[in-house]
Amino acid sequence: MFPESDVRTVLSNLSARGFDARWAATKEEAAADMLAGIAPGESVGIGGSMSVKETGICDLLLARGNPVYWHWLPGEGDARRKAMTADVYLCSANALTADGELVSIDGFGNRTGAMVYGPERCFIVCGVNKLTADVASALERIKTVACPQNARRLGLDVPCARTGRCFDCAAGKRMCRVTTIYSYPRVGRETRVYLVGEPLGF
Ligand code: SF4
Repeated sequence: MFPESDVRTVLSNLSARGFDARWAATKEEAAADMLAGIAPGESVGIGGSMSVKETGICDLLLARGNPVYWHWLPGEGDARRKAMTADVYLCSANALTADGELVSIDGFGNRTGAMVYGPERCFIVCGVNKLTADVASALERIKTVACPQNARRLGLDVPCARTGRCFDCAAGKRMCRVTTIYSYPRVGRETRVYLVGEPLGF
C-alpha cells in the first residue's frame, strides 16, 4: 500500500502546478467521476492506454451514447486524429513524479500531443504503480517496465521486449519516439489528474 502521506504530497504538488488533482480509491470510483464530468452527447477521444481501458470508462460512455474516438475500437480508421479535437480527452501518463510532473514516452505522439495541447478538457488517469520519486526514476521506470510490457503487448521485435532493458534501438524499429514531461497545464484548460489507489496499466 502506498503511504497516505505520499499520496497527499503528490496531490498537493499537482494542485500547486495547476492540475485538477483527484484521488480515487478504485478504478470504478475514477470511472464514475470521469463519467459525471462528461455530458451526454459530448465526444470523447481516448489515447492508447491500458489504464483507461481498465477503468471501464469506454464501455460506460458507449452505453450512454457518447461518441468515442479510440483507435483501439474496431472500425475507427481516423480515430487518433478525431480524438485530438473531441470535447474531452482521456489518457494516462507513463509515470507521475512525487513533485507532480507527468512523464510519458509515445510512439506516434498522438497521446502526448493531445495530452498537452488537445481537447480543452483532459482527464489523465494514473494508478499508484506509476508513482516515482523524480523525472530520472520516471524515465527509468518507463524504459524498464512500461516499454517492455507495451512492446510485448504489441508483438514488437525490439530489445526491451526480449530483455526488459532499453538498448536505445535503431530508428526503424523503436517505439520510443516522443518524450514529454508535462509540468504545468495551460491556464484555463481543465486538466484533471486522477491518482487511483490501485495498480493500473503498465
Ligand atoms: S528505445 Fe527501443 S529498446 Fe529502448 S525502450 Fe524504446 S523500443 Fe525498447
